[in-house]
Amino acid sequence: MKLPKFAFFRGRIAPYGDARLGVLTHGLNYGTGCFAGLRGYWSEEEQELFVFRPRDHFKRFLDSTRLLSMELTDTVDELLGHLRDLLRAEELKTDCYIRPLAFYADETIGVRLHDLTPAVSMVAFPFGKYFDNDDGAHVTISSWKRIDDNMIPARGKIAGSYVNSALARSDAQRSGFDDAITLNKDGHIAEGSVANFFMVRNGSVVTPPITDDILEGITRATFMTLLKEELGFTVVERSIDRTELALADEAFLAGTGAQIVPITRVDHRPIAGGRPGRLTLELRDLYFEIVRGKRPKYRPWLAPTYAA
Ligand code: PMP
Repeated sequence: MKLPKFAFFRGRIAPYGDARLGVLTHGLNYGTGCFAGLRGYWSEEEQELFVFRPRDHFKRFLDSTRLLSMELTDTVDELLGHLRDLLRAEELKTDCYIRPLAFYADETIGVRLHDLTPAVSMVAFPFGKYFDNDDGAHVTISSWKRIDDNMIPARGKIAGSYVNSALARSDAQRSGFDDAITLNKDGHIAEGSVANFFMVRNGSVVTPPITDDILEGITRATFMTLLKEELGFTVVERSIDRTELALADEAFLAGTGAQIVPITRVDHRPIAGGRPGRLTLELRDLYFEIVRGKRPKYRPWLAPTYAA
């Protein structure tokens, strides 16, 4: 990956090479950090870079910092201002990914969340697709369980907890699958390694509730809105058994990086005849129109970068 030119670091935009940390940094040693992941979509037509739902991402980011007892003074609007400055400095005119990070910056030994000082950084860089197979993913049910909210907060993007996603995703990929579906402590479907889970079964769209150890995904919320407002489905939030996936009429993963990835095979079973489902494809078309500003109703979800 080509490194960015700049980073927002210690309150200002600095050359990326100046954003350096010592090896004793608390967040690096103990995973005491949290992050966000946003996408910017370039519109050739409007010559504009639209950041998708940045306020919702920054709100969840600040919620994650609260779960780690970080006392940050930054507001959503200030973070959005720093992001705009960063994107303008990078002069990004292509689809991109944005990574805000908050971490305990002290260079010290001692496992704790108190008496430490948080720092915030942000970088942005060109980015294409996250899943190679985003036309139809072959997933496996992971032998790794999804972290339990009584172990590490599951609803926030806590840096250390991503070891859980990494274990599940690497084991799946090394075995030839595209991704892993993790089950939670109760044996219900939680999510993919980096995306939330949806299925269509007997005419209902179903997704696990936020009390089933899932990340409270913004793309998940987006699809719930679109399914209701545009396609006439009220999404049912309920626990999902693993064998329901085998019987699903359609299933897909939803996340900022993944965007929308149809699941066409789970372990050795085809889903929906091994092809992306009709509703999944309809939702995908709608999503890509919205993120590039083509649906006026959803423009409030987009933050332009270059417009005054
Ligand atoms: N679950 C996990 C574990 C993730 O890392 C992500 C990506 N942030 C998601 C779900 C989807 O969340 P979002 O739609 O907010 O990107």
